[in-house]
Amino acid sequence: MSCVFCRIVAGEQPASVVHHDDLCWAFMDIRPVRRGHVLVIPVAHAVHLHELDDPIRARIWEVGQRIADAHRASALTSNGHNFLLNDGKAANQTVAHAHLHVIPRAGGDFLATMFRLAKNLTGIGTIRRDALDTDADEIRQHLPLF
Ligand SMILES: [Zn+2]
Repeated sequence: MSCVFCRIVAGEQPASVVHHDDLCWAFMDIRPVRRGHVLVIPVAHAVHLHELDDPIRARIWEVGQRIADAHRASALTSNGHNFLLNDGKAANQTVAHAHLHVIPRAGGDFLATMFRLAKNLTGIGTIRRDALDTDADEIRQHLPLF
């Protein structure tokens, strides 16, 4: 299995998991643009959104919204979010498995965030697993029930 996100779902690759259900998983991005950056993916492997059924597409956005709600309620403190979905290589999709970025924003962080976003797209910047696990726990504790 060459897809890193499919390996996470199969338990063959470590991840700091925030949520999982039959349709979607959510876990911390290992190259976060900002602290608390979460990825939401469909369980079914698909590169592009158009390859997914409507209920799965809807579930991705629903999970993303609840992650954002959890961010706001948690100690990570966010005043807003970027929901970013790069659909296809031409749109800077770097992992060939559809994924929604949920990026908490604090305000007044525009330049720093845009700089890190650009770096993230070229694969720079990782964060320690224990720090990601701590943030995943914090978000999970504030995640509204499904
Ligand atoms: Zn995959």
